[in-house]
Amino acid sequence: MEVKFFTPTREYSEKKDEFDKAIQSVINSGSFIMGKEVTDFEDAIKKYTGAKYAISVASGTDALVIASDILGFKDKKEVITSPFTFLASASCIAMHNAKPVFVDIDETTFNIDANKIEEKINPNTVGILPIHLFCQMSDMDKIMDLASKNNLRVLEDAAEAFGMRWKGSNGIVYKHSGTIGDMGIFSFFPTKTLGGYGDGGMIVTNDAKLAEMAKMFRVHGASKKYHYDYLGYNSRLDTIQAAVLSVKLKHLDKSIEKRLKVSNWYKKRLIDCEYVKIPGIKGEQKPVYYVFNILAESRDKLVAYLKQNNVGTSIYYPIPLHLQKCFNHLGYKEGDFPVAEKVSKEILALPIYPEITEDEVDFVCTAIKNFYKK
Ligand SMILES: *Cc1c(COP(=O)(O)O)cnc(C)c1O
Repeated sequence: MEVKFFTPTREYSEKKDEFDKAIQSVINSGSFIMGKEVTDFEDAIKKYTGAKYAISVASGTDALVIASDILGFKDKKEVITSPFTFLASASCIAMHNAKPVFVDIDETTFNIDANKIEEKINPNTVGILPIHLFCQMSDMDKIMDLASKNNLRVLEDAAEAFGMRWKGSNGIVYKHSGTIGDMGIFSFFPTKTLGGYGDGGMIVTNDAKLAEMAKMFRVHGASKKYHYDYLGYNSRLDTIQAAVLSVKLKHLDKSIEKRLKVSNWYKKRLIDCEYVKIPGIKGEQKPVYYVFNILAESRDKLVAYLKQNNVGTSIYYPIPLHLQKCFNHLGYKEGDFPVAEKVSKEILALPIYPEITEDEVDFVCTAIKNFYKK
């Protein structure tokens, strides 16, 4: 047996007719940029997430760069974020010459440790950029509280967090990731829970002014054709991607349910393995298993063994951002964020997608156990 880390082709072959029809209809229409399917998809995202405004762009990275620009994360101002994330969460801050200020992660959730944010706030701080990683959201109660007390803007990197929800202040309503801060972003990179057949991204907000700016920024800063109010970007979602994503969104709740089921298959099989730790969920929230991680003893040897046994895995993230060459100028050194550094040496993502079978999960877990028996 071979278990791939990720395979988009199973879903395609299951729903081939639906995808083919959606793609073909865009080709027939000849409207490849910001066609009708794009507006329809934006409306569907608003409906699904409860956001007042949804502005599609060319990628999650672009969404972060554009939103950072709009929120004033620039000109030597400071923005607090986590070092344990994908590069784009911090490069979007540095890109406009603002300074990413890192805070270590929580050892259970791997998200930013909200208890360590306040000590980093100073008069130069303008924002907080929490990332909702892997399967759960950051502590949005604490983050929003700190933001309102200190007049900071919050940009949620919800690139991995589609479908995740956080308990509302009334304790009943769950708010979708990305819709709690000033702005939020999603990525539709193919591996993501809502993934396209290429790059794609979305900015969401409940603020009319911010939404209007995002709409201008994605078309070179134009308020109308050839009238440029700002220096903007060329960053739009392809109509074909919107058509594919609309098909996927229709089936998303089922996919999310299936991911939860798969996560339970893993938990059941690995719970008694003393060399493996399974991360927990914190806070009143609805997780989505975009990634299923374990903390593994002798991680790198396990990876090699699993590879030999035809099991694909991935490491998110092998080097925390404060130790990356591109951030040398920030002056961080090894030891600055001990939790992030430790987790980066032990974390391992196992294959999880709605189409994976229980036999395949069995195969992966048996291989893991066999490795530790040796
Ligand atoms: C995937 C991802 C991004 C970037 O999204 P792209 O669509 O690949 O540009 C940003 N932040 C995080 C946390 C991600 O996982």
